[in-house]
Amino acid sequence: MTDPTITLLKDLVAIDSVNPSLVPGGAGESAIAERIAAELRASGLSDVQISPAAPGRPNVFGVIESGRSGPSLMLCGHSDTVGVEGMAAPFDPVVRDGKLFGRGAQDMKGGVAAILGAARRLAASPAGLSGRVIVAIVADEEYASLGADAAVEAWKADAAIVAEPTDLAIGIGHKGFEWVEVETQGIAAHGSRPDDGVDAIVMMGRVLGGLDALERSFIAGRAHPLLGRPSLHASLIRGGREQLVPWSHAIHDANPQFRQTFGFERGRRRFVDEPCVLLHLFFELTRAPAGITDKCPN
Ligand SMILES: [Zn+2]
Repeated sequence: MTDPTITLLKDLVAIDSVNPSLVPGGAGESAIAERIAAELRASGLSDVQISPAAPGRPNVFGVIESGRSGPSLMLCGHSDTVGVEGMAAPFDPVVRDGKLFGRGAQDMKGGVAAILGAARRLAASPAGLSGRVIVAIVADEEYASLGADAAVEAWKADAAIVAEPTDLAIGIGHKGFEWVEVETQGIAAHGSRPDDGVDAIVMMGRVLGGLDALERSFIAGRAHPLLGRPSLHASLIRGGREQLVPWSHAIHDANPQFRQTFGFERGRRRFVDEPCVLLHLFFELTRAPAGITDKCPN
């Protein structure tokens, strides 16, 4: 007989839950939230609720009450996935060589199915349990973590396990991250009249050179014993209008510690001495490191 948790995982992979903040037009978490809530109800959990973290972005909760006093444990996973570009059949789960493939099978519908499978067993035989177990399946982890933010506002627990894929190692900390948008703004001019223009794309080359130097300093620098070294990458760049009018503007998404390198805070600053050449930094999303201290246990 097929393991019901594997069957459930196939169901979850088959439901499109691409994060719409990450991928415009993504399906979002509404359909998968209904499936998860149905599973929790069928497993006999109490207080099962679908709770919107934002319009169209539902979290799902359920509780196993032991009836005995004791601490509370939250089991947490996220229901959204990244996009499906380049995948032939992302929502068609297939098992090959003992592994299940499909969008989100690992990150983290596998973890979510494991949580729901554990909840089913605990609810069926809670004799060894004291306190209570809270199941929290949250939305929007792949972008701004709206769901997790809403969950920790609404629920309290003494401890939590997040079933993210970590190759079965226990992760006790997180590096944190920062998404930064950088814009250089020049002056558009015809290619035959260079004195009339300022090339924003060339200015962006200086920014990229700075990022390269920063990345090399990370490689040469100290690594955290658990989390490794800091890193950055330039994930997206765009700019320019047409071949003969090369001076427009370029936008570039960068990563942490940019602020320290360039000494800039949020907003507009003049980038170089030339008038009208501006560097704009927009700190889109910041998550501070979590769960780590200077004296990290090895
Ligand atoms: Zn994940």
